[in-house]
Amino acid sequence: MSEHDQHYLREELYALVRTDPSIFGFLQSGSLDGIWYWDLENPDNEWLSPRFWEIFGYDPEQKKHLASEWQDMIHPEDLQTALANFNAHCADPSHPYDQLVRYTHKDGSTVWVRCRGLAIRDDNGKPIRMLGAHNEVTELMEARQDLEQTNAELRRANAVLERANAELEQFAYVASHDLRQPLHTIETFAALLREEHGDQLDEDGLRYVDFQIEAAARLQGLIDGLLRLSRVAFDPSTRATVSLTDAATLAQADLGAVIAESGARIECEALPSVPGDPDLLRQVFSNLFDNAIKYRSEATPEIRVACQPKDVGVHVTVKDNGIGFDPNQSERIFRVFQRLHPAGSYSGAGIGLSIVARIVTGHGGRLWAESEPGVGSTFHVTLPLQASNSNGVAA
Ligand code: ADP
Repeated sequence: MSEHDQHYLREELYALVRTDPSIFGFLQSGSLDGIWYWDLENPDNEWLSPRFWEIFGYDPEQKKHLASEWQDMIHPEDLQTALANFNAHCADPSHPYDQLVRYTHKDGSTVWVRCRGLAIRDDNGKPIRMLGAHNEVTELMEARQDLEQTNAELRRANAVLERANAELEQFAYVASHDLRQPLHTIETFAALLREEHGDQLDEDGLRYVDFQIEAAARLQGLIDGLLRLSRVAFDPSTRATVSLTDAATLAQADLGAVIAESGARIECEALPSVPGDPDLLRQVFSNLFDNAIKYRSEATPEIRVACQPKDVGVHVTVKDNGIGFDPNQSERIFRVFQRLHPAGSYSGAGIGLSIVARIVTGHGGRLWAESEPGVGSTFHVTLPLQASNSNGVAA
């Protein structure tokens, strides 16, 4: 016997249970939702505690102590499970008699019960009685069913989204290919018109042809941008541990020429690592740095990358001293093709920030911006430190 089994209070309690029926009564009513005691030698006879019936909405006084009483109320499928476990437990005491079963409440609703039992055997090991205990678990089971239903709905919604995404990608691919050809024809012939017949056109005519060439080039840029955006898909199965410091350093290397030409200074604090796609996270910094330099003021561009304190996850800011933008437009800039500054003065298709937004949200993070015209802008990126699956649930 272990020290635990020999404790004097245990001895005392066991003796009390034997001598004082109110102790056993307290134990069963305080911790269980019904007990039953079955005479396996006369299997019609089964004593069922009052609480057993109360759980199912019945007056215990109206019920007989017969096995048929509960067998008529239990779900037929669960009765089969219980009987199979009963037979297995009788044959082999190590097989537990333990299952979740459904009963029909007096009002017609379903009551879920965890039903456990122990066969009591004679000297030859033959089961002669069975002692059982009920725990009601309806709330738990309903919550589990709700969760399963929500999960199934999420999976369905996810499948619809994935289909829509695939269709969009296919559309973007087809559109870009189909549009490119006639666009190329327009560009080529407009250029030929200018080159070979330019002398037959007056000043206005030449300007119109130039507009045409410019518009075609812009349309080409938009199609390319749309295609780039449609290709930004984060595949969680390719997730790696990405050092954000490395991602920011590599992004600077990508922009080597622009940085050198503008004299931009990029200062980057030590940043943590996050689960994600290294190429995509590098693109986040690359697009933000590119904009910070493109939308610069008269001053030499200064970009500061900092890590903000955050309880959960990572919060990185990319701050510039550029021309800034109207803070009322701080949500619009993340939408596709939305540009705040005149197309003539700044190149671009209005795609860069949509790509950043798609990458960040694809990683389970958030993105927003603040700005003061003439002073500069700050882009905020949060990313989870723990990977999440495609449903946004921590994995
Ligand atoms: P693009 O730069 O190609 O126009 P983006 O999607 O990268 O497209 O940016 C959308 C718009 O947001 C830009 O046209 C610009 O008006 C504004 N913007 C983005 N970054 C900055 C920045 N760092 N400073 C000021 N304005 C910015």
